[in-house]
Amino acid sequence: MKDPLWPTEVSERLREYLSGTFTGVQFQTAPLAVYDVVTLDVSWTDGPALHEVDLVALQIVLRLHLDTWGTSNEAGSRIDRISKRRTMSPVAEEMLLKVLAADLGTGPGEQDLERFYTLPPVLAASRYRAEKGTIPEFLDLLFEATSFRGSGVGDGDIGGPDTLLCRCALCA
Ligand SMILES: [Zn+2]
Repeated sequence: MKDPLWPTEVSERLREYLSGTFTGVQFQTAPLAVYDVVTLDVSWTDGPALHEVDLVALQIVLRLHLDTWGTSNEAGSRIDRISKRRTMSPVAEEMLLKVLAADLGTGPGEQDLERFYTLPPVLAASRYRAEKGTIPEFLDLLFEATSFRGSGVGDGDIGGPDTLLCRCALCA
């Protein structure tokens, strides 16, 4: 039986684990305790999709819980919530806008941000059910469905939407 870990230590382990799993992506993790509720704050730019981080984070937090389960001070390693913030870099935004422009058949810069467009083919498989939407809506959806591996963003080695969309066990 191991000694319980404190939230700061869990937070650091999670950061290391995420960095090892999604190499090249910078993760920030911070524990936040409000009364009895401990939240682990995880943030990163581009990189993997939210649900991919969820899967990895749940795995490690569960493992740490099990490791210390039944010890006299199991409260130490208890994490109640994980909150995630994923930011889109300007480079990624530009890239995704180009993908959308190609898919919608509009030139870059010709897009009317308030106009409603028909759902582009790249988003046909998404959980989005509406038939029409605005460019900002599509951009968010596309970002959500996109998994940027490593520092590939902006390297010019990312092809069309086929290679952008997440291919994890949940999405494939
Ligand atoms: Zn996925």
